[in-house]
Amino acid sequence: MIKRIIDSSELSKFKNAVERVSRIVITCHKKADGDAIGSSLALCLILRKLSKNAIVIIPDQLADSLTFVTKGIDYVTFSRNEVMAGNIIRNTQLIMSLDYNCFDRVDRMKSCIEQSRVPKVLIDHHLNPDNVFDVTISHPEISSTSELVYRLATEAGWLNCIDKQVASCIFVGIMTDTGNLAFSSSYPEVYHVMSKLMEYGIDKPYLYKMAMDTVPLNSLLLQSYALLNKMKIVDDKYALITLDKSDLEKYDYKTGDTERLVNKPLSVKNVFWSTFMREDPNCIKVSMRSEGTLAVDKLCARYFNGGGHKHAAAGEFYGTMQEAVDLYYKIVEQVNNEEHNKNEN
Ligand code: 5GP
Ligand code: MN
Repeated sequence: MIKRIIDSSELSKFKNAVERVSRIVITCHKKADGDAIGSSLALCLILRKLSKNAIVIIPDQLADSLTFVTKGIDYVTFSRNEVMAGNIIRNTQLIMSLDYNCFDRVDRMKSCIEQSRVPKVLIDHHLNPDNVFDVTISHPEISSTSELVYRLATEAGWLNCIDKQVASCIFVGIMTDTGNLAFSSSYPEVYHVMSKLMEYGIDKPYLYKMAMDTVPLNSLLLQSYALLNKMKIVDDKYALITLDKSDLEKYDYKTGDTERLVNKPLSVKNVFWSTFMREDPNCIKVSMRSEGTLAVDKLCARYFNGGGHKHAAAGEFYGTMQEAVDLYYKIVEQVNNEEHNKNEN
């Protein structure tokens, strides 16, 4: 039995908002990951089954490795067609924000969404959502936005709108956000949800292979190069990987090619904090992963204008790679002090 979690007044506000309109835009964060695209497409398909004119608009180009999720489902990429996407947003009657908690996360789509006067719905699992939504379905305790969409459909009485395609999208989102159910975010009920999804006849080995175990050759080589030549293990506990523009060019880098690289150093015994810095065109993208008590969302929020979850977070640094690395070593000092104090107490 899967417990109901969504606040009943928020749930009825959500259902009313949907019932009142026909045109709905669903958005997710830039550089969509499996959870962002999976949850958005799943909800879009559900709403279409309810005869809504729903469309997913993603801020920027989807990573090649995730296009398998979109097979047979139309969606719009804002950065590739800003005029058309802008018109859809201007003409919609309801905007839904999935897998992000503030409009800074949708890149150039931000102003379009902020200018819109239609009701806005948040469906997300990141901490501290902005107070700008008319309906806020925010559950940081839930493994993934995809799981939340499954629960929302169940609690709204829309289970009959879930089919194999919807179940596959949700399955991919849960799988990618929980490291295939390995992370601490996968509590017992996630397994219940996964088993319910399997009843729709999804092709689990295919989804696993595509979502978790398929990369382009250049990505495998870039990640191998990064681990071999650009990883430093600090004090036997922390790992830092940096990739600058020339490294990325050498390996023909495309969005998605460094996915999960930041997780890899955590497999080294005693390493519990991993940081990856990548020189993007307009900033240094900083990703962090941790195990145990170290909350990397706080570090990313404090030092890199970012956020995320306790054990998986990211942000941006505006400056040179060397400056970002210098800042990293200051943070190491601080983390070391905190670790030291903790051990003293
Ligand atoms: P990743 O390292 O995989 O890019 O991101 C890890 C986590 O941090 C994800 O939950 C993602 O939503 C969040 N995240 C990634 N980039 C940013 C950012 O620039 N700002 C904030 N607030 N969160 C981010
Ligand atoms: Mn997510």
